[in-house]
Amino acid sequence: MLTNKKTKIVATLGPACSTREIIKDMIDAGVNVFRVNFSHADYEDVKEKINLIRGLNEEFGYTTAILGDLQGPKLRVGVMEEGVVVKDGDLITFTTAEDILGTAKKVFMKYQNFPNDVNPGERILLDDGKLIFEIVETDKKSEVIARVIQGGELKSKKGVNLPNTKISLPAMTEKDIADAIFAIGQNVDWIALSFVKTPRDLQDLQELIAEHSEYKIPIIAKIEMPEALENIDKIVAYCDALMVARGDLGVELPAHEVPLVQKELIRRAKTARIPVIVATQMMETMITSLTPTRAEVNDVANSVMDGADAVMLSGETATGNYPVQVIQKMTQIIEAVEDSPLIQVPQNTPQIKTKRFITKTICHHAATMANVIKAKAICTLTNSGYTAFQISAWRPNSHILVFTSNKRILTQLNLLWGVKSFFYEKTVSTDDTVTDINEIVKQKGFVQKGDFLINLAAMPIKEKGMVNTLRVSEIE
Ligand code: PGA
Ligand code: MN
Repeated sequence: MLTNKKTKIVATLGPACSTREIIKDMIDAGVNVFRVNFSHADYEDVKEKINLIRGLNEEFGYTTAILGDLQGPKLRVGVMEEGVVVKDGDLITFTTAEDILGTAKKVFMKYQNFPNDVNPGERILLDDGKLIFEIVETDKKSEVIARVIQGGELKSKKGVNLPNTKISLPAMTEKDIADAIFAIGQNVDWIALSFVKTPRDLQDLQELIAEHSEYKIPIIAKIEMPEALENIDKIVAYCDALMVARGDLGVELPAHEVPLVQKELIRRAKTARIPVIVATQMMETMITSLTPTRAEVNDVANSVMDGADAVMLSGETATGNYPVQVIQKMTQIIEAVEDSPLIQVPQNTPQIKTKRFITKTICHHAATMANVIKAKAICTLTNSGYTAFQISAWRPNSHILVFTSNKRILTQLNLLWGVKSFFYEKTVSTDDTVTDINEIVKQKGFVQKGDFLINLAAMPIKEKGMVNTLRVSEIE
């Protein structure tokens, strides 16, 4: 039995969720979207997982979505010897010349231009900022010497951030292009791009998608660089969703600036009526423990209270010990707070003469009316999914039930706050469809006799045009 929560959960796939049983239990506990993290993905394994999830969707009528997350220009160190520890004050060499097995003295840096991009005095942060180095010297060719400022265990293939350095890598590396083409081939529902800096980065990905896919695949811009914050207005205009990628953001910026940035980004996304995901370290303790900390419980709850559409798990589900229990806990936290009247997301009424104004205003009024008349559900027929984005952004108290004959959006819309979608392909007449849908909704238990329900439709129905009609029914 699926949960009825409205805030969505994105869970990262990994070795901890390999079996059909675990994945099914995770969906039953509240996962709406599975994320493939291309930083650590093997194509054959990904294909297998995607087939498994789609098989479960088919068999149990789930609408679980798949998100392909491109690594972007993330720098990494090479493979390390077991148990290397570096101490404060030590000197260490980062080399780009040769992919050596790393030691406490010398480490491979997987980025050819690294010695040329950096300067003495700049910082190197490793493993989400757990280790800190300061550059002493660079030969501008293949070797950089750095002093350890904050030591610790230096593990294989950990990510590197250079918060003071201008790096000369494109937003999409060759690996990202190959991964994107693979993801498109797998018909993923969403593609996320890491380390977005400018709208150009998003346009490059849009062009790649257009070249390789018959359908539009919506893009999530991962906000994890100071440059992205500077260009946020334009970035919002060129993407379909945002992710507050706190892991890298909290290293690229001082971590204490992240809480306000999170609030600001959520407001931006909700003003633009696009979904926003809050990510990273939400339930970190549950990688190894059955109990989250009070701070983690508060973090998930506060992200929901800020207005997030979805919250995300990374290591907790990819490699943690409790991939199912962490979802159960997260669902409990979400359900405890998401109906609070204290949650206020920005709601700017649609402006007359803007694109698709008729549909926007109908969705807006449907949501407002649903709250006033205490309607139990808003049902909409859609081909593109556009009305689902619009209604979801108004956060009505009622169910948002989407009926579509477009199998692609059936799963894609599962990222959206409050949205549940169902396959429906009859197009006899609007009268027939409304009667038919209301009966389905009653059978599914969303409404009972005497409840009000709002139907949205595009008339005439056969043209499959824009939603232009609102009807209120009382269930018989
Ligand atoms: P990542 O993105 O897990 O792909 O790095 C999320 C983040 O940086 O928070
Ligand atoms: Mn990141």
